[in-house]
Amino acid sequence: MSSSATPLIAVYDTKPYDREYLGAAAGVEALDLRFHEFRLEPETAFSAEGARAVCVFVNDKIQRPTLANLAHLGVRMVALRCAGFNNVDLKAAKHFGIAITRVPNYSPHAVAEHTIALILTLNRKIHRAFNRVRELNFSLSGLVGFDLHGKTAGIIGTGKIGRIVCEILKGFGMRVIAADLFPNPEWAARKGVEYMDTVALARQSDIVSLHTPLTSQTDHIVGSDFIALMKPGAMLVNVSRGRLIHTTALIEGLKSGHIGGVALDVYEEEEGVFFEDLSGEVLQDDELARLLVFPNVLVTAHQAFLTREALHEISRVTVENLLRFVQGQPFLEGTAL
Ligand code: NAD
Repeated sequence: MSSSATPLIAVYDTKPYDREYLGAAAGVEALDLRFHEFRLEPETAFSAEGARAVCVFVNDKIQRPTLANLAHLGVRMVALRCAGFNNVDLKAAKHFGIAITRVPNYSPHAVAEHTIALILTLNRKIHRAFNRVRELNFSLSGLVGFDLHGKTAGIIGTGKIGRIVCEILKGFGMRVIAADLFPNPEWAARKGVEYMDTVALARQSDIVSLHTPLTSQTDHIVGSDFIALMKPGAMLVNVSRGRLIHTTALIEGLKSGHIGGVALDVYEEEEGVFFEDLSGEVLQDDELARLLVFPNVLVTAHQAFLTREALHEISRVTVENLLRFVQGQPFLEGTAL
């Protein structure tokens, strides 16, 4: 039990693994973490009463109304336990004097390796094979994949995660092409990666994988125009943010057979669905329901970050920043927004 002097931190959208890793990082004395399963949004912000700071995840709503309510309660810091911050109104945070931190670099390997897991699973139909053999169906019909070796992978966004994906795919003997707003020519020359614009990339790729943040420029970067440019039968992978892909256009591309396969770890309307056990409920999202019945679509529920190493690092950086905040010290370098 923490003493009344221990600073209270309200932690939102928590699952058992969050509580385990954050609890271990904080220890019992330093911070009083009040874990909530529900998300932080304007209507739930009152639950932060008495807290010095709040800790949130990708689907909490940190826009102006939430920030106004938090400011009213005296909350002066929001610690994001993720890298992406598209769910935060930074201008409003500044206006209300609320500091925002994130964990920019917890484990790009976790996310990159999950990308590769999705590509291999979808291509070699491991998810279907797994189900078949458990039913004693040892037929191979419909399980034909393709060699990655010699094919072309197009990576959009060569930041921390995208670069690791490129390097792993080079190891398969793939030609790797890339697009980025800020290319890294020295790295590309060293690794044998060719930069080009997204139109040329779409035309040439057998696999397109998205690794940009969600911004006004990347919002729906893959829509009907991009899909029309893609090679017939090409695979599309998104582990970054759901809104990079226009879902209706994606479904059309799948129905027409133009897209060969889709692997998603994120989805436009994932909020309230991903991270939840809805197995006893009626799924209300018709587009997600449609996606889930394509044999060539593989969906995981935003789990690319979920490794022990990533959870440990996320918790370490988040707790360190919360402690620095309550002690009036500067945040860890590169984590303040
Ligand atoms: P990063 O900032 O290191 O790299 C992003 C890259 O995208 C940069 O090189 C940037 O120049 C480029 N970029 C930005 N706008 C662009 C545009 N309009 N066109 C082309 N390139 C553009 O980020 P990162 O650590 O590699 O993470 C990438 C994204 O992955 C994050 O923003 C986050 O949304 C997502 N992510 C998902 C998970 C998950 O669990 N699924 C976990 C972590 C991160």
